[in-house]
Amino acid sequence: MSHAIGLKCLLCGAEYALHEVEYVCPLHGDEGILDVQYDYASISRTLPLEDLVGSRDYSIWRYKPLLPVEPESPVPPLSVGWTPLYPADRLAESLNLKHLWIKDDGRQPTASLKDRASAIAVVRAREAGSQIVATASTGNAAAALAGLCASVGQPNVIFVPASIPEAKIAQLLVFGSTVLLVEGTYDDAFELCLEATRTYGWYNRNTGYNPYMTEGKKTAVLEICEQLYWRAPDCIFVSVGDGCIIGGLHKGLKDLLALGWIDHMPRLIGVQAAGSAALYNAWKRGVDPSEITPVEVHTIADSIAAGLPRDRIKAMRAVRESGGAFVAVTDDEILQAMQTLAGGCGVFAEPAGAASFAGLLKAVPSGLVESGEQIVVLITGSGLKDVRAVLKLPGKGKTVRIEPRLEAVAAALQ
Ligand SMILES: *Cc1c(COP(=O)(O)O)cnc(C)c1O
Ligand SMILES: [Zn+2]
Repeated sequence: MSHAIGLKCLLCGAEYALHEVEYVCPLHGDEGILDVQYDYASISRTLPLEDLVGSRDYSIWRYKPLLPVEPESPVPPLSVGWTPLYPADRLAESLNLKHLWIKDDGRQPTASLKDRASAIAVVRAREAGSQIVATASTGNAAAALAGLCASVGQPNVIFVPASIPEAKIAQLLVFGSTVLLVEGTYDDAFELCLEATRTYGWYNRNTGYNPYMTEGKKTAVLEICEQLYWRAPDCIFVSVGDGCIIGGLHKGLKDLLALGWIDHMPRLIGVQAAGSAALYNAWKRGVDPSEITPVEVHTIADSIAAGLPRDRIKAMRAVRESGGAFVAVTDDEILQAMQTLAGGCGVFAEPAGAASFAGLLKAVPSGLVESGEQIVVLITGSGLKDVRAVLKLPGKGKTVRIEPRLEAVAAALQ
């Protein structure tokens, strides 16, 4: 048996047995997002910290007892998780910080953090005996689901806005998914996918609807704490669209506190694109997340373009309960951050992936972090996902066109 013991509604606190409800609280419909509850005493007995330290499974499945899957369920063969946590000393120095780490989730099999959630979706869909798995996505969740499904031969249907970057569409096509390019926004694709999964009985992986996706995403912070030898950092920067990742980080940290594996809750700093900043705006004005109304969005960071953040309640709680903050960054700041990050530590992030770092660049002068603090910046997706964004960079690097002659090299080096 898994150590997940129930589901609790974020809105009304109603508790359900695992098999009683599939996705959301029946009293609250699509808004009634559920939180998975665990039996921490039995997790401690199954997975003492000493055993984990000796584990050679360098994937998210090293934390299987902390995940909502049956212990005997087979897991997909693609290696998800255990991405590197790099000390970024040169960047730290340039920002007058002492301890800065970059967690690079561009290194996942389909090049974004979404693989962590899609791996859980594939296992749970198989446990449920579903024939088809479906998701709506701004692109990365779709690529992740497509790749993980391909690794086990699981048919799947993908709903994405027709405007997503080419590389993301290429990923969907090559994995053999049924791809529906929705002429509309991500929010439109989301609603359509909900209707279709209800009509056809497909397994629904949608973020901010399927309660198990946050559980997969929390593995990022389990790894961060383990990679820091179970000393939780002081704060973690993460970009926020729907809010599922930041909600997952908060959940993972609460798990670790409950198990006694860490001794404090880091501040969670959620970074939004200024052109898609529903949560930032609500936080700033003290508005309750349930009151947020959809806004029109415009940003180069397509992966965090969400007019109505689906996991807004979890995201707001993550920031408020951890004593963190929301920060908004402009597209220019994101582009600049992509370049500074890549040049300063060798990690190439897509715009949404670098937004977290842009948030740090803004937080330092505004006093949101102190120079002696231990800071982790989570990079959520690879820059190869969206090479067109790079062409918009202010400096475009140092390129010089030359004729194939040595004198031209000499002239160019002047
Ligand atoms: C999905 C995604 C995010 C944001 O995650 P949410 O759970 O929607 O807040 C950030 N960066 C990248 C690269 C993503 O794919
Ligand atoms: Zn409810």
